[in-house]
Amino acid sequence: MPIDWNILPMKWLLLMLMISTVLSQDQCSCPTSCSDKEKLGRSTWFLLHSIVKNVEQTLENEEMFVEFMNILSQLYPCKECREHFILNLKNIDQVEMTEKWMCMFHNKINQQLHKPLYSCTNDRILE
Ligand SMILES: Cc1cc2nc3c(=O)[nH]c(=O)nc-3n(C[C@H](O)[C@H](O)[C@H](O)COP(=O)(O)OP(=O)(O)OC[C@H]3O[C@@H](n4cnc5c(N)ncnc54)[C@H](O)[C@@H]3O)c2cc1C
Repeated sequence: MPIDWNILPMKWLLLMLMISTVLSQDQCSCPTSCSDKEKLGRSTWFLLHSIVKNVEQTLENEEMFVEFMNILSQLYPCKECREHFILNLKNIDQVEMTEKWMCMFHNKINQQLHKPLYSCTNDRILE
């Protein structure tokens, strides 16, 4: 039966427009959008690299860092990345609060996402 466009209320037209817009976008497991996943990732890496570079390496800080990484992995606000994060931590021998360890951990994720790898000795990108 054909739709009578003259009797279709404006709110239904708007709702249909919203649904078609959502369906036409790339599906993503992030809370809002795929660009948020990228932004969240870059900000998180900045924080993690900054911690290992600038925080004093004491036994107490190292213990807190290991705990922090485990908690962050459980609370990471992107489902796909969280699962990835937890699995990678699980498969790693040990978490270390060093620049080299973080560089290698970042490379692990880079590799899985087909991104360029860093040389973790001199911070040059190995294409
Ligand atoms: C733990 C974790 C898990 C993630 N899992 C996923 C996932 O499953 N799927 C997904 O789509 N995204 C995931 N992300 C996001 C993803 O890693 C990127 O942050 C995002 O795709 C943006 O990438 P980018 O190219 O801007 O660079 P990023 O990878 O965000 O890196 C930021 C900057 O760090 C520098 N950098 C890169 N590699 C290294 C390194 N090894 N050592 C030092 N510096 C380096 C570069 O200058 C780069 O521009 C995850 C992020 C985190 C923190």
